[in-house]
Amino acid sequence: MPHDPNCVFCQIVTDTRKCVLLAEDPEALAFMDIHPANPGHCLVIPKGHWPTVFDIPAEVFGAVARLAVRIAAGVQQALNPPGLSLVQANGPAAGQTVPHLHVHILPRQDGDRLALNWRRTAAGDAGRIAEIATRIRNQVPAG
Ligand code: 5GP
Ligand code: ZN
Repeated sequence: MPHDPNCVFCQIVTDTRKCVLLAEDPEALAFMDIHPANPGHCLVIPKGHWPTVFDIPAEVFGAVARLAVRIAAGVQQALNPPGLSLVQANGPAAGQTVPHLHVHILPRQDGDRLALNWRRTAAGDAGRIAEIATRIRNQVPAG
């Protein structure tokens, strides 16, 4: 599968950049977002480097979608948010800042007024992100 050594998500896939891992399968990886828009914000990516939905083979996107469904179930069981958004941006105008396809899994709160192109928050509290990750990991159904 293709990799770009300058891509931050490829660096996570190849273990040269740290992440708080939630789950993986042969084709996809799920981990916590380092700048959470809401508590429990996490990402699902393909292990190969495809920038957008226009580049990725449909069957690989299918693998990303399958893992996203499992992670969404884990987030819902662990955190029980009143809502949950899946967001996948293609291109800077859509708010894509990392050119390696990813699906955001975003727990939502009533009235959180989260804009689709939200402002980047300060780096999240590492301990809190890890603690929430453990709660989600324990609830991700078997793949
Ligand atoms: P985009 O803006 O492209 O839709 O989303 C990229 C996401 O990746 C952002 O929410 C950002 O916080 C997250 N992100 C960027 N760099 C890293 C990183 O090195 N590690 C992790 N865990 N998340 C990252
Ligand atoms: Zn990449």
